[in-house]
Amino acid sequence: MKPLGNRAEDARIQHAKFGEEVRERPPTDLLNGQLLKMWKVISRAMRLRCPACGEGLLFLGWFRMAESCPNCGLLFSREPGFYLGSIYVNYGLTALLVTVGYFAMFFGDVLSDPQRLGILIAFSILFPLWFFRYARALWLGFDQLWDPQDHAAGGRQHKPPAKPPTS
Ligand SMILES: [Zn+2]
Repeated sequence: MKPLGNRAEDARIQHAKFGEEVRERPPTDLLNGQLLKMWKVISRAMRLRCPACGEGLLFLGWFRMAESCPNCGLLFSREPGFYLGSIYVNYGLTALLVTVGYFAMFFGDVLSDPQRLGILIAFSILFPLWFFRYARALWLGFDQLWDPQDHAAGGRQHKPPAKPPTS
């Protein structure tokens, strides 16, 4: 049986072998980089712009989406059913806001029960309609962040996997 220290030693040797290539950035750099990317995704989604270039408009009308980015060519309509997930985003946020709104009105002792109910029903119908485009923009943006697609290629293009180290 190998002593426990060996694994760490192997890792150290691997690092030494590949020098610059495998040198890790400090965790704070990685975190800041990720936060910056997420902020970019959110700010572009809130402006309903292409997640890749931040220029092209995602929507041609209230519910009609462009096929691809007029600026960089990124395909917006990926596989069928791609935007199904955006419904969860929309529903989740609506449910959260209705819950918070209900408790805020309940404990703030604002309005009567039927009035609160009316407001929250109206909100839960109107808010998802308004948020529909933003939910899709966020869904596309985070997909582009975690599984980037080549701009002009039009199809889903994965980056080639990193070559395993050859000894
Ligand atoms: Zn674009």
